[in-house]
Amino acid sequence: MLKVAKFGGSSMADAEQYKKVRAIIESDDDRKVIVVSAAGKRYPDDHKLTDLLYLCHAHLTYGVSAGPVFDMVKDRYLSIRDTLGISLDLESDFEKLYQKMQKGISQDELVSRGEYFSAKLLAAYLGYEFIDSANWVRFNYDGTVDQTVSYQLLREMAAGKRAVIPGFYGTMEDGKIRLMDRGGSDITGAYVAAALNADIYENWTDVSGILMADPRIVKDAKTIARVTYSELRELSYIGAQVLHEATIFPVREKNIPVNIRNTNDPENPGTLIRDNFEGADPDDASLITGIAGKKGFITFSITRSGMASESGTLRKILMVFEKYNVPIHYILNGIDCATLVVRASSVENCRYLIQADLNRDVEPDHIHVSDNIAIIAIVGRKMASRSGSSGKIFQALGEQNINVRMISQGPEELNIMIGVKEKDFNITIDSLYHKFVG
Ligand code: ADP
Ligand code: ASP
Ligand code: MG
Repeated sequence: MLKVAKFGGSSMADAEQYKKVRAIIESDDDRKVIVVSAAGKRYPDDHKLTDLLYLCHAHLTYGVSAGPVFDMVKDRYLSIRDTLGISLDLESDFEKLYQKMQKGISQDELVSRGEYFSAKLLAAYLGYEFIDSANWVRFNYDGTVDQTVSYQLLREMAAGKRAVIPGFYGTMEDGKIRLMDRGGSDITGAYVAAALNADIYENWTDVSGILMADPRIVKDAKTIARVTYSELRELSYIGAQVLHEATIFPVREKNIPVNIRNTNDPENPGTLIRDNFEGADPDDASLITGIAGKKGFITFSITRSGMASESGTLRKILMVFEKYNVPIHYILNGIDCATLVVRASSVENCRYLIQADLNRDVEPDHIHVSDNIAIIAIVGRKMASRSGSSGKIFQALGEQNINVRMISQGPEELNIMIGVKEKDFNITIDSLYHKFVG
């Protein structure tokens, strides 16, 4: 039996957390391969080491002394080492890094050192081997990971061993270090689990699993005990940040279950994620699985009388967005009106060009652009078979005087999506939660 356990930033934040991590690992002999993040926040106003390292690089770029920020990073790791009495020469590593910074270091390489030092320290603390992700995570030029090559390399290095592996980075073919997206250690953990055919991928964080809503918005949100890969994909894509949205692909391919657990409450079973739970008796009768959302959208509503009976108009609209390389998140069709939802950041430099092209190519009656839109989704496998979900949504939002800008039900009926103004984001999630969950 092999369990791959990934510990996130909050689990690696200080010496006290390292003790909890060691106790968790030592309590189960199957937890043989460990993946870690850089040290995270110890308290709400604290800094994540990853952020400090980005800041350090910004200092170098603008020619401001990076010394004080660098020392903050170094001190965090030295203090963990000294408090735990780990014998490991980190000073010479830090000295070499500082020298390299003076000569010019890429942002990705510098930032990756957060996970590198975390993993080295934990490996020494546990007496496990350290396996550097620079030696096995291979990126393709397009930024995807070459799974075949990477898995093969890792199998050769890790087979039958107890090891600690840093998350978040790998290398390009030319040996240069490259980072994944923010939160990417979750993905490294999934690659490790898939490469080694683990029996389970445990993801240890600071909440007892996936909650039905972001705990920073809904104070009393309940844990979702079981969730399918598809539901998790929907929840994380739409904004539930507990697990990086790309985490499920490598584990789903190999049908490896994921268990999200709390380092600060290790007895709690957390959330189990699998392909399906057929045959299992659902222990909660709740209609929905969860609610999540993201801010930062903009909508273009294009109205043209007669559009509903024309062919080709939608294609012309889409071609304009394609020309400017703008991905479309959702499209809603009304009679003679199409609404396209895109990330505001993707049209930062071209929104007026898009409007001009639409006017020329589509000759609409008018185009209405709404800024500061948040998209919120309610996800749930049982929603499809029940009527009245949309009614409940309108009732909840009506009671709070929230103006619904759009509403749409996904084709697989796993979710209902609504658009509201960003200022209504928290209140929308909170009121929907209490309407559906109680
Ligand atoms: P880690 O450092 O372990 O990777 P993250 O900060 O990436 O942890 O993710 C855990 C955090 O995600 C929680 O502390 C919580 O504030 C936030 N979060 C947002 N939405 C949810 C949700 N639906 N369920 C659980 N946590 C959520
Ligand atoms: N340390 C990285 C970040 O803060 C990666 C991770 O924690 O998963 O984004
Ligand atoms: Mg994370």
